[in-house]
Amino acid sequence: MKISYKQRLTVSFCIILAGFTVGVAVFVQYREKIYKTEALEEKLDACADITGRYLDRHDRPAALFDSLSQLLPPDMRVTLIDLQGQVLYDNRLTPGTPLENHAHRPEILQAAQRGKGSDIRVSASNSRKYLYYAKQSGHYYIRMALPYDIQVRHFLKPGNGFLYYILALFAAGILFIHYVAGRFGKSIRKLRDFSMAVGSNTVNIADTHFPDDELGEIGAKIVQNYLQLRTNEKKIELEKEKTRKLKQELTGNVAHELRTPVTSIRGYLETILEQQLDPEKERQFLQKAYRQTLMLSELIRDMSLLTKLEEPSGMFHLQPVELAAVINKAAVDLAPALNAQGIEVTSDVPQDTLVRGNENLLYTVFRNLMENVVHYAGKNVKIVIAQCGEDDDFLHFSFADTGVGIADERHLQRLFERFYRVTEGRTRDTGGTGLGLAIVQHSIAFHKGTITVRNRPGGGLQFLFTLPVSR
Ligand code: ADP
Repeated sequence: MKISYKQRLTVSFCIILAGFTVGVAVFVQYREKIYKTEALEEKLDACADITGRYLDRHDRPAALFDSLSQLLPPDMRVTLIDLQGQVLYDNRLTPGTPLENHAHRPEILQAAQRGKGSDIRVSASNSRKYLYYAKQSGHYYIRMALPYDIQVRHFLKPGNGFLYYILALFAAGILFIHYVAGRFGKSIRKLRDFSMAVGSNTVNIADTHFPDDELGEIGAKIVQNYLQLRTNEKKIELEKEKTRKLKQELTGNVAHELRTPVTSIRGYLETILEQQLDPEKERQFLQKAYRQTLMLSELIRDMSLLTKLEEPSGMFHLQPVELAAVINKAAVDLAPALNAQGIEVTSDVPQDTLVRGNENLLYTVFRNLMENVVHYAGKNVKIVIAQCGEDDDFLHFSFADTGVGIADERHLQRLFERFYRVTEGRTRDTGGTGLGLAIVQHSIAFHKGTITVRNRPGGGLQFLFTLPVSR
């Protein structure tokens, strides 16, 4: 059986307290005995003095002792011894009883040296225990003795009051220890219950309230850490689940994106292989299949660019870039498409505006935004690019068009998601991969900037973004 902490503590303290109590009791008893023996000796001394004084005035000691015996306590033994140790008289013995010389009795030896002496021992003459007290008086030693076993022992018995007091203190001490050990043990018991509950995964936080002491504080801290750990575990679990879902979604999306062009290509090729087509028709089909392979290439290019943007590698190095030149290059490269739609590009970004960035990525940003205007904004619209402010480390830019915009605001929040398209069919026909704005956002984020999109008050879409200034 396991002994609980409380029991162990109580027992240990009880043993210490009992030892201490016994020690105090024995000491007090001993002191009391000495004190009472001294008091008794004083009485015997007084008796011896009286006897001595009577002895001086009487020439017949025997007669004196006979009458004196009437006055003394009935158990008192009186012995008269001469200076050589010869017993002259003893009120307890019949006269004439032969007695050995008393000169070497301890009390007589002490009396010879210091005038008085005492001893407690069994009498050689009647085998009873006596307290002997001897005093020299003139030519004699007067020895008084009381049986130590009856009256003296009774007399020496210490006042029991003190003993009861000590016992009461002992009992109170035990009760107190029991209470303290209980309180102390409570924290430990709670901690043990808690650790068991953790082990069996049945923690009930409402149960884990600790007493208000240091041990309780430790317990509360452990519980707090445990809760923090559980919260973190849950967070990690959620994060894992989120990533898992994202991956699943992405894989699904990629499969979906691949399926359309691959199915078309397969259809065209099957038709060519299985049917006798005239050369003109056959060429048309081959061209259509070819266009689908171009789309596939674009998709693969965009996907790998996004993957690279997500990798924390030094794939794209940063340098001061003249943004106006980058905008100009994109506009020039896209001029045929822009002109075909009647789109006009204006930019007020100063020639000397330098951002700290990767030129290729910045080119991709503007090219994607311009291509989107070509594809989705409508004919004869304007693209207005502006530098619209700066703060400590970033320059603020706006890219706006005056086209159709996106009527349903709910689409705006999701515009930067991979493969998100406002109108599936229409946008797919324009040949977009659905990754354009995801690439734009990742490119801006790569530069530690941010990007938002909104419908312009006057119509059209407006992107607001920041890029780090190069000083
Ligand atoms: P994609 O690469 O297929 O063009 P994007 O991620 O670039 O896809 O664009 C997502 C969607 O946002 C497009 O399908 C289109 O509907 C909408 N969009 C983007 N730019 C504009 C714009 N300037 N005007 C209106 N709609 C736009």
